[in-house]
Formats: sequence, C-alpha cells, structure tokens
Amino acid sequence: MRRAVCPGSFDPVTNGHLDIISRANRLYDEVIVAVLVNQSKAGLFTVDERIEMLREVTASYPNVRVESFQGLLVDFCKASDCSVVVKGLRAVSDFDYELQMAQMNLELAGVETLFMTTNPLYSFLSSSLIKDVAKWGGDVSAHVPEVVVARLRQRLADEAGEAGEPGGARGGSEAGGAGGVT
Ligand code: ADP
Repeated sequence: MRRAVCPGSFDPVTNGHLDIISRANRLYDEVIVAVLVNQSKAGLFTVDERIEMLREVTASYPNVRVESFQGLLVDFCKASDCSVVVKGLRAVSDFDYELQMAQMNLELAGVETLFMTTNPLYSFLSSSLIKDVAKWGGDVSAHVPEVVVARLRQRLADEAGEAGEPGGARGGSEAGGAGGVT
C-alpha cells in the first residue's frame, strides 16, 4: 500500500491544508494527517480539538485518517509503515526550513519528502494569520471550513469572556498578539 503522511500543527485546519490533503489523497492509497503534539507551545485549540475538526472536514475522504504524534516525524513514519511525507509549499519563505527538515529526515531514516506547491488561492493562508484575523473580528469564512469558523467564534468568545478583552488571555496569536493584522 502506498501511504503518505501530511504533518503539521493544524491549529486550526485551513482550506490550504485541506487542498494539500485532498491532492495527496488522489496520489496515495492512504494519507495519514499527523497532528504534532508540541509540549512547549500551547495552541488555541487542544490537539484533540484539532483532530476532531480534521476528522470532520476529511470525513468524505475514506482513505484519510487523522492521528497525533510527538517526537520525531521519522519515528512516526516508521511506526506507521510509511516512507513519504507530503508538505505544502506556500512561498520561498517556507523553502529554507522545509529543505533542511526534508534533508534531515532523508538522512535520519530514508524518509522522502514531496513538496506540493500551494494552490495560488491559498498561498497567503496560515493558521496563525487566520487566528489573528478572527481574533479582531475579521471574516475568515472564505479561508477555513465552516466547522472551524464556528469553533473559532466560540473559542475566541470564551477567551474574551474570561479575560474581559478581545481574544482573552491566550489571544490566539502566535505572532505575539502585536495588535493589528495585515
Ligand atoms: P501553519 O500553522 O503555517 O498553517 P502547519 O504546521 O499546520 O502550518 O502546516 C502543515 C503543512 O501544511 C505544512 O506542510 C505547510 O507548509 C502546509 N500548509 C499550511 N498552509 C498551507 C497553504 N495555505 N497552502 C499549502 N500548504 C500549506
């Protein structure tokens, strides 16, 4: 069976992620979406919540399954009997770091990385930008699935309620919550 892993934080899943997952799904018998558990960085959504959203939005793809992993991606690949990682490339700025990781993963365990160029419709999309825009009341409904719009609205309202300010204590921003966006 030809299998590929699509790894990432998916905090939360965007239409850009979904585009890569669905295209990988056409090329492989099975695609494992692997959500990174990062102990040192709290996300806006818990890993379980991210998995729930991913499962919901990939439900129409019978060959896609969603799991979490911690530690080395190559160890997860090995345990999943998979030697291909598929990643999306948005812009040149993604390339340097992705190239290093790809070369390290090949060196460590013979795991190949295939890069898919982003659909230009989604080249500016990242989870962190979505969170920042949503935090300040912007409409993200064209960029994330409906279930994510609803979850974002709920989470940000809860946090704002807790902290008495837009975005609340965690703020939902990985960019440091600097204030304005774009
Ligand atoms: P981010 O938090 O930057 O959105 P993730 O770590 O969740 O990214 O990304 C997981 C994978 O999805 C990575 O390979 C990343 O390059 C890819 N990806 C993220 N957003 C897009 C997009 N808009 N178009 C194509 N690939 C993307």
